[in-house]
Amino acid sequence: QGRRFEDYSAKTTIGFDQIGGQQAAKQELTEALDFIINPQKVEELGIRPLKGIILLGPPGTGKTLLAKAAANYTDAVFLAASGSEFVEMYAGVGAQRVRKLFQQAREMAVKGKKDRAILFVDEIEVLGGKRGSHGSHLEYDQTLNQLLVEMDGLKANDDVRVLLIAATNRADMLDEALMRPGRFDRQVKVPLPDKDGRKEILKIHCTNKPIVTDVDLDQVAKDSYGFSGAHLESVVNEAAIMAFRNNMQAIIPEHFREAIDKVMLGEKLDRKPTS
Ligand code: ATP
Repeated sequence: QGRRFEDYSAKTTIGFDQIGGQQAAKQELTEALDFIINPQKVEELGIRPLKGIILLGPPGTGKTLLAKAAANYTDAVFLAASGSEFVEMYAGVGAQRVRKLFQQAREMAVKGKKDRAILFVDEIEVLGGKRGSHGSHLEYDQTLNQLLVEMDGLKANDDVRVLLIAATNRADMLDEALMRPGRFDRQVKVPLPDKDGRKEILKIHCTNKPIVTDVDLDQVAKDSYGFSGAHLESVVNEAAIMAFRNNMQAIIPEHFREAIDKVMLGEKLDRKPTS
């Protein structure tokens, strides 16, 4: 009960330029974040304040990275939690944790002399799943209700403006109450990267790694169809490990081929024949 949520604010140095692909997601997100940066203009125009953004997409596609970059972009403090952290055996504990998360965000912002906070809640479906879908489990409902209360209580003129960014790969499981106007009324899709996206992600993870000039990242991107950003990060890391094992100074094309096979086998990826 007394636990504090992880504070990444000091470590949040990730920028949108360090996130490969996801052009549409980055654009939609920055457009929404511009509302946070210009609250006065938003108020003058009578725009409803933005309280929540939901990121939808499979695991490892960069949703956490996007939320961190959002905090950086808006110069906000950043707190992260996972939906499963709110699920407790005892009635009321989950709801209390939700309250605490919002409270802690405000405290941290004041301490850091910032007027904005971004709360990131991964696996929101655990917390915000359809009410009643957990059988007679009252605890889930209380937790979700508390989240709705907190969101409804957010005001554009609060001393610390809190924005909730949630992530899920199970949009179908979410309670409709979360999607009502004034709550998570922005949904941003964060899909698996296409070939160009994969190449960009590979490039990002190859920075500062010795790679021989005949490595064709275009080919590596082609060969890694169906991979997420997290898989691609593993591919580059595995390729470097192969170079190390082979006592070589730099990564060669063969290392990438082996690394792709290794990651694919490890994940048993369900890949279609060509991209
Ligand atoms: P999950 O749903 O499993 O929490 P996620 O979508 O939040 O996944 P991240 O935690 O953001 O994924 O990504 C995990 C790691 O994968 C990152 O730390 C990074 O190394 C790599 N990665 C994922 N997507 C990208 C991307 N678009 N560009 C660069 N690296 C990426």
